Amino acid sequence: MKNKNENIIEVKNAKKIYRMGRERIIAVDDVSFTVKKGEFCCLYGASGSGKSTLLNLMAGIEKLTGGQIMIKGRNIHKMSEKGLAKFRQNTLGFVFQSYNLLNSMTALENVELPLVFKHMNKKRRRRMARQMLINVGLGDRQKHKPTEMSGGQQQRVGIARAFVCNPEIVFADEPTGNLDSKTSKEVMDIIKNMARANNQTIVMVTHDKDLAGYADRIIHIFDGKIEEIVDLKSEKTTVEEVDRQMEETEDFISEQALHAENPG
Ligand code: ADP
Ligand code: MG
Repeated sequence: MKNKNENIIEVKNAKKIYRMGRERIIAVDDVSFTVKKGEFCCLYGASGSGKSTLLNLMAGIEKLTGGQIMIKGRNIHKMSEKGLAKFRQNTLGFVFQSYNLLNSMTALENVELPLVFKHMNKKRRRRMARQMLINVGLGDRQKHKPTEMSGGQQQRVGIARAFVCNPEIVFADEPTGNLDSKTSKEVMDIIKNMARANNQTIVMVTHDKDLAGYADRIIHIFDGKIEEIVDLKSEKTTVEEVDRQMEETEDFISEQALHAENPG
C-alpha cells in the first residue's frame, strides 16, 4: 500500500465568485484544506454556505476564480477538457441527491453505464454490475427501472454506479437529501462500508449534523469560508474502536462473498 498519510486532495486558497449582472456572489472564499487517502471527509454547513460549489470545484465541474486544487498531485484546473474528462472517468465517482439514473434503463444497465464508457466488453461489465448490485443489497432488483424502485433503492443503484469502476475518490452531494432518516442511515452505512473495504476516499456534502457524524473529519463551512475542522477519528481511535471497525469490515466483506455465492 502507498503512504497512508498521502494527501490525495489539496485545496489551496480556492475561490469562486459568481457574477449575476452587477452583483458578485463570493460562494467559496479563500478555502484551504487537505484530504488524506482513505479518509471520509464531510463538508458541513447551512444551505447556501457554498458546500456544493466547493465540491464541484474539487470535482472539476466548476471553474475556479482563484487558487488551485490538486488531486493525486495533479492540478485539475490546468488540465485540458479532454484530459480532465479522462481523469474524472478513471479516478472519481459521483453520488447525487436526486440519484440521476436514466429512467429508460434497468438498474443493471444504469450500473453498467460507466463501464460502457470505458469500452469494457459486455460479458465482463454485466458481471461487475451484477456484483455491485448484490453488494448494495439489490441482487433481486436488476431488471427494475428507476420508477419501479423506492428512493432508497434508487440511491443504492446510484451508489453501485459510483463505485463500479473502483474510483479512488467518491464525491457525494447530499446523497440522502431525498430520503427518510431510517433509509438515510442504511445508505450512509453502505457508502461508508464500501469505501472502507476498498480504502476509497469520500468527500460528502451535508447540512445534517447526524449524517456528518459518519465522517472521519468534518469541515464546517459558513458563508463560503471554513469555520472549523473537527477531527472525529482522533477522538474515536481507541484500540477498541479499531478492533470494532476491523470486525465490521470483515463482516461486510464475508457478507458480500456469501451473497456472491447465493445471489437473491
Ligand atoms: P450549498 O450547497 O451550501 O447550499 P451552494 O454552493 O449551492 O451552497 O451556493 C453558495 C452560494 O452561491 C449561494 O449564495 C448561491 O446562491 C450561489 N450560487 C450557487 N451556484 C450559483 C450559480 N450557478 N450562479 C450564481 N450563484 C450561484
Ligand atoms: Mg448544495
